[in-house]
Amino acid sequence: MTQADSDYTQTLQDLSLASRILAHHGIVDGFGHVSCRDPRSPKEHFLLSRNLAPALVQSEDIVTWRISDAEPVDPSSPRGFLERCIHSEIYRQFEDVEAVVHFHSLDIIPFGIMPIPFQAVYHMASFLGSESAPIFDISDSFGPATDMLIRNTTHGAALASSFSPSSSDSPTRPLVLMRGHGATLTAASLKLAIFRAIYTQNNAKILTSLSSLAGGAQQLIHHRGPGARFLTDEECKAATASNSGQVSRAWDVWCKELEN
Ligand SMILES: [Zn+2]
Repeated sequence: MTQADSDYTQTLQDLSLASRILAHHGIVDGFGHVSCRDPRSPKEHFLLSRNLAPALVQSEDIVTWRISDAEPVDPSSPRGFLERCIHSEIYRQFEDVEAVVHFHSLDIIPFGIMPIPFQAVYHMASFLGSESAPIFDISDSFGPATDMLIRNTTHGAALASSFSPSSSDSPTRPLVLMRGHGATLTAASLKLAIFRAIYTQNNAKILTSLSSLAGGAQQLIHHRGPGARFLTDEECKAATASNSGQVSRAWDVWCKELEN
């Protein structure tokens, strides 16, 4: 077996674990998905499961898709997720993205509906930064009568553009909230993507409980006054650097939880 074959086999295993970890943590339910680039041909192809609930995904369910048009490399592959253009268009626009998670978590959705700041409130979510995550509103580009889903490459390209205001190999922000739908995040590795998904979820839970303690969302909207003190830009950068070496430690325990 060549190194490329070995990397591919390991990636299939890690991607199926990633899918089940997201389900175990309630970030995805029957819907939502995680993908990564194909280590055999990272500029052309990505890996994503067939149309299947994330909790059920095994290595043999992973299909190879073209980045250029989100169609399967093997035309006889099983049916894929309707929203796979989310993944293909992000890989097409951002060379440095290695993994993508799309999810409809109930903890996240409120922050895409009204302008409550969604930014880092504790060190484990420092990658979110000190400014509120961008909100992608599909009606801005495609009118008031879509079904809210990313159905084609045009929709996918519009969403992908929300990760960075100017053309660049790297997204400016790791997370984009999607109004009335969910969120999508990117990372430079599959394990980091899962780390970010879990701590994004935790950040949302903390903000929700903070809103309740503070007497409502309006208190958070005006947080720069005497109210809530979120992480500064400098704190976000320092905490992200500190956390960067700890991703595998978290991944190992999340895998162990699945065994139990
Ligand atoms: Zn979706």
